[in-house]
Amino acid sequence: MGVSIEPLICGHLTAGLSAFESGATDGSVTLPVPSWLIRHRLGLVLFDCGMHPDLSRDTPMRERVSRNFEVDMGPGETLHRRLADHQVDVTDIAVVVLSHLHFDHAGGLVQIPDARVVVQEAEWAAGLDDELRRGNGFRRGDYDLGHEVLTISGDHDLFGDGTVVCLSTPGHTPGHQSLRLRLDSGEVVLCADCAYFERTLAGGPLPPFGHDTAQQARSIARLIDHRRAGSRLIPGHDTTILHALPERLT
Ligand SMILES: [Zn+2]
Repeated sequence: MGVSIEPLICGHLTAGLSAFESGATDGSVTLPVPSWLIRHRLGLVLFDCGMHPDLSRDTPMRERVSRNFEVDMGPGETLHRRLADHQVDVTDIAVVVLSHLHFDHAGGLVQIPDARVVVQEAEWAAGLDDELRRGNGFRRGDYDLGHEVLTISGDHDLFGDGTVVCLSTPGHTPGHQSLRLRLDSGEVVLCADCAYFERTLAGGPLPPFGHDTAQQARSIARLIDHRRAGSRLIPGHDTTILHALPERLT
């Protein structure tokens, strides 16, 4: 059986467009928050975990996040419930690859206590460094939960067979990574926050925040190289693209 990908949309975030694209002056945008379930013959992998389940209820955490984003995640949209929709128990997940440590990617990790976490060394170091953590807006309680953590530096072939490969795409955060999957239908790259939108890949504006925007631009160029080589690129938060995906990509 080949590798497959199932998108799990775990709620949405809405904010002014200027929060996500430098120079935007008006309008708001709603971002789907995806996790990705990858089935490989050697085990189940998640790429990103969505948001903390406390954001699905009226909690102090939700109140705090709501100062910056309108949070739309009902109890039926947590990662735990999305996995159940796909007949997967959280204990079945062997590996969680985190693209980066922002709350809408790492916050759901608390629901997957038994998995091994794979993250770039630079990202993990930033997550444990008070200054870098604050500068990047990471919440340590999202990810520093006692998981077994495998830190990697640069690209990393998860199963050693070329089907699931972490691609180092820093810039949005110090150790951001994307994930390349080799499906029977061809190669797919899950860009995560290296490119929020399809138009980001076409030279559109980057967010007004970010660890190193010049580095992010170089990482986008790297993703474009993969597109030129035939990969399908899936941006991290593009409503039109994410909502049009089939239930399963093979
Ligand atoms: Zn991010």
